[in-house]
Amino acid sequence: MSKMSILQVRLENDGVELGWSDGKTSFFHSIWMRDNCCCDICGRPEIGRRQSRLSALDLNVSISSAIIENDSLQVSWSEGHHSSFASDWLRANAYDEVSRRERSFVPQGWDQTFRDSPPEFDFIEASQNDEVFLKALQSVRDHGICFLKNAPPKDGVLEPFAARIGPIQESNFGRIQNLAIDLSSGAVAQSAIALKPHTDEPYRASPPGILIFLCIETDVEGAGTSTFLDGFEIAETLRNEDPDGFAVLARNNQPFRRHYANNVDLIAEFPVISLDSLGNIIGVRVNDRVGAPVSIPAEDVVPYYRAMKRFLTLSDDPDRILHLKLQPGDVAIFDNHRILHGRTELTVTGPRWLQWMQVERGDFNSSLRIMADNLGQPRDANPLLRGAY
Ligand SMILES: [Zn+2]
Repeated sequence: MSKMSILQVRLENDGVELGWSDGKTSFFHSIWMRDNCCCDICGRPEIGRRQSRLSALDLNVSISSAIIENDSLQVSWSEGHHSSFASDWLRANAYDEVSRRERSFVPQGWDQTFRDSPPEFDFIEASQNDEVFLKALQSVRDHGICFLKNAPPKDGVLEPFAARIGPIQESNFGRIQNLAIDLSSGAVAQSAIALKPHTDEPYRASPPGILIFLCIETDVEGAGTSTFLDGFEIAETLRNEDPDGFAVLARNNQPFRRHYANNVDLIAEFPVISLDSLGNIIGVRVNDRVGAPVSIPAEDVVPYYRAMKRFLTLSDDPDRILHLKLQPGDVAIFDNHRILHGRTELTVTGPRWLQWMQVERGDFNSSLRIMADNLGQPRDANPLLRGAY
């Protein structure tokens, strides 16, 4: 954003309206400004370090004067305090609706060109070169996914790589998970039947954030592919086709449950589609294998089922699916709050071994910011995509 100056200041009863050099206006409430005073006594609220406390402030605090001076707004308070706000700071923190929309993170959608050549990097390069590593993570931020080629296909390789993205998260399924095809076992994940595109573990209060998969062994002769799909594309398509059904999915909770091995019983109720306060899609939870009975207002039941069925049908649409035959040494990094993954039916005549781990999305976002800072690059987006509730 190019530099904006404050051209006009208009004091009102409960705050101040600023007119900017690009013609925009932003209103700031008095209590908001007083609470966010950045002086040496009050602290630095923009980095979450405050000495002043709301409990000590008068909710009716009023401005006695506000003037522009040296590219900042100088505010004198009726209580006697004085605040100075840099115009950049005010612009960056303006909370009028236009500013909030401008700041909301806009993920990039998938199209056929994207599906034909998804972002791909060399594993060794990404491991050794911070700029390549950051680019790979930015692809996950923007498109929800990226692929890395030529990783050494063996145990112990993925862990140090994943740990650079953020602390590896452990769950009741372990810290490092392995999926080996073994037809003697009856569990779904161990068999070679098709798995419809889904997001992982929606029965958790916070599902896995960023998933990092490595293909260690595969039956390269056998049939079958891994599938990836943009959940946001599906959700937007549904919003266009059936706005009422979309709204019903977004405002009602879907219970998910996994009663696992008699010693774990995970239950969570969250919407299939999560929206932010501006109506942007920020996350999806899609996995009808683990859906428990919905408990929603009667008038929503029929549209709920209509929308859910359409959502699942769209997520099975071969034209929207990125089909990929993972080879030994292939790594996939994707955002489990956006990307659905699965596989077509596999014909296995040899071994198949996938290994994966997970990093919490807050840690992933933190790494994006810090790496950009360290490389002297702009952070580009702040805040980042929040993910499914
Ligand atoms: Zn202060």
